[in-house]
Amino acid sequence: MPTTNDQQPRTRIGYGWDSHEFKRGIPLKIGGLTLPHNKGLGGHSDGDVLLHALTDALLGAVAAPDIGTLFSPSDPRWKGADSSVFLTEALERVRAAGYTIANVDSTLILAAPRIGPHATAIRERVAKFLEIPVDSVGLKAKTPEGMGTENAAIAHVIVLLEKRGRGLTESKRRVRKA
Ligand SMILES: [Zn+2]
Repeated sequence: MPTTNDQQPRTRIGYGWDSHEFKRGIPLKIGGLTLPHNKGLGGHSDGDVLLHALTDALLGAVAAPDIGTLFSPSDPRWKGADSSVFLTEALERVRAAGYTIANVDSTLILAAPRIGPHATAIRERVAKFLEIPVDSVGLKAKTPEGMGTENAAIAHVIVLLEKRGRGLTESKRRVRKA
């Protein structure tokens, strides 16, 4: 007998975007890691532009309210907050909707520092947050050629969700058990 869950789409896509301005005298947090640099990202919370875009991508995939609605920048509770708090809420909403994450892809746009040397560490950190393999987390970094955004960091993130219990991994597991 079909249940409500069976009528939900097997896959869902989500997209998130964020930007923060560089400011002197604060640590640079990207993807949950503190990167060595003479400036960090300002704004509410810890300014982790990648985790904010990822949070919005996950929320968008299940049509939940966005990060700014759930965690208002004017709310003093989120001043200097660790952005993993926002990500945890988004993950809970994805799980409650009955989905798991198939993969994530992301692009960072910033003039400095160079992301290349830290890309693997960032991907590993994000994969750990999401409890998915590191080869399911894509990360590219670009410099803002001709955009005039040298004093900002921008992140674009896209996620693909898969209905829980319908994925390849789940079917394999069931076959193995049988
Ligand atoms: Zn943000």
